Amino acid sequence: MKCHICEFRCNIENSKIGSCGMYQNINGQITERFKNSYLFVNPISIETQPMLHFFVNHKFLQIGSVGCNFKCEGCVSNIFVKYIDIYKNAFKKLSAQEIVQKALEENCKGISFGINEPTMHYFSLLELAKIAKENKLLFGISTNLYYTKESLFQLIKYLDFVNVGLKGYTKETYRKFCKAPDSKPVYRNIVYLFKNNVYFEVSIVYSKGVENELINVAKFLSKLSKQIPLQIMRFIPFDKASGELEPSIKESENLVEELKKHLDYVYLFNSPGTKYLDTNSDNFDIKRSFYGPMGAHIISIKGKPNCIIGDISKKDYEEDGFFGGYRITRALEMVIGILNALNVTDKKTIASVITEILKDKTFLNFFHETQDDINSNLENYFDIVELLAKLSNANPKKLIDFYKEILDDIKLKRKKIDKKLKSYYVMGTPIFALNTHRFENKLASFVGLEVLKLEKEGKPGINISKETLISYNPDIVFISGFISCKTEDFIDYCQNHNININATKYKKVYKLPFGWDFGSVEWIFGLMYIANVAYPHIYNFNIESKYFLFNNKKYTPLNKSFYTGIG
Ligand code: SF4
Repeated sequence: MKCHICEFRCNIENSKIGSCGMYQNINGQITERFKNSYLFVNPISIETQPMLHFFVNHKFLQIGSVGCNFKCEGCVSNIFVKYIDIYKNAFKKLSAQEIVQKALEENCKGISFGINEPTMHYFSLLELAKIAKENKLLFGISTNLYYTKESLFQLIKYLDFVNVGLKGYTKETYRKFCKAPDSKPVYRNIVYLFKNNVYFEVSIVYSKGVENELINVAKFLSKLSKQIPLQIMRFIPFDKASGELEPSIKESENLVEELKKHLDYVYLFNSPGTKYLDTNSDNFDIKRSFYGPMGAHIISIKGKPNCIIGDISKKDYEEDGFFGGYRITRALEMVIGILNALNVTDKKTIASVITEILKDKTFLNFFHETQDDINSNLENYFDIVELLAKLSNANPKKLIDFYKEILDDIKLKRKKIDKKLKSYYVMGTPIFALNTHRFENKLASFVGLEVLKLEKEGKPGINISKETLISYNPDIVFISGFISCKTEDFIDYCQNHNININATKYKKVYKLPFGWDFGSVEWIFGLMYIANVAYPHIYNFNIESKYFLFNNKKYTPLNKSFYTGIG
């Protein structure tokens, strides 16, 4: 029997399961295996869906789960689906009526499905969308849009908004990146949405080498309407993904300019400090900031451009800790990283640990606060390691001892510092300051550096003015290893904007190697790196030998040396 929900159109024999692992043929009927089952049900601001021109700044109830019909390399969804029989223990069973009730209680404008692919929950969502509409709630999805014509035909009447996540333009790209046989169904469905007046925005990842694909996407969309917003997701390597594919923010901004020749609204994500997340003209100005991977957040609104659908909310909504947008998957990747460092590599054990974590929202809050909170210090990290070791039956001693020895050494040596240097930790661009209490700044202050005290904080930081930076006048600058920028770009920016600070004057701008600060078990190497370059007369860690001890292999950075500062 054929499943006609997506264009894979799997042939599923009786009692067998389709290629996505989410549908089963039960006595000649295609059945959703995990109906009304969700992992995440949390309010978000619509900008973290992300949607930028639709009911700006409004709160939506975001729901999501696991599963995808595409098989993109490195995607956490693949691990989830493989061990779904374990993960299903963490599912929250919520009827359509219960979700609608929750959205109403939370004063949400509507319900949005995100995190994983909605095609995997087709029947649940049909029912939910219908009840949402009856209760005057808006309903929308983020999807790869690989629906069949027939299945989209049923769903479209309930859709108020869609974020279409493209993988590229050509058949070859779809085959290469997500193992889908063709891109045509997606583009056919885009036209179908357009003809049926469903509001949609389009997002696509920009990694080095796919520039022409993106230009072709922009040309295609412009034939429908130049007003369709295009969201460019700058590729950022997670975990072990290759950093070679990451375009710099400057390169991405140049591409956005090129794409703007075809479309009126092209936005750049994953690029802290960029002006290409704003919408402005003479009469209106909507300023947005980077808000974690794939997310944006409103900073200020002046006027209302015609391109905005619906009203604009005056009230901000900020998600807790790891919730909102795609940060939750990032949190799970961090958990997997710690488990691996504890020598827990068995996928079944990892799956059962994650299941335990997902069952209880407080763990993720604890995990977030331990690393990124006003009351914590670096040693609190051991609490996470101990908890994960307990859940996985591993022994945390070796890992904790490794960290402890280095921390104790620093504690002793930092007493010799007579005058603290002023440090400044940035992400992406020189004006995007990381939060004062964020993990990266804890690394800097642990080695004896002063850190910039921000009056307001964002996720994971905020844009500061050029004047603030000049008056702080840092002696040393660190560029985050995650969502980074080249030291040359940092210097160029400062020169072009007349930002004269001691750090650039005395050539003390350092880019942390990828994976050596927030979110990785290898933060301890970032700590030693910061110590060595900040106070070379006090600290002299042999990082390469420590790295060998930790990983049992040589450090092989992309660059010749991991001291990629300009000093
Ligand atoms: S939804 Fe799943 S089972 Fe159905 S056609 Fe697509 S991949 Fe196959």
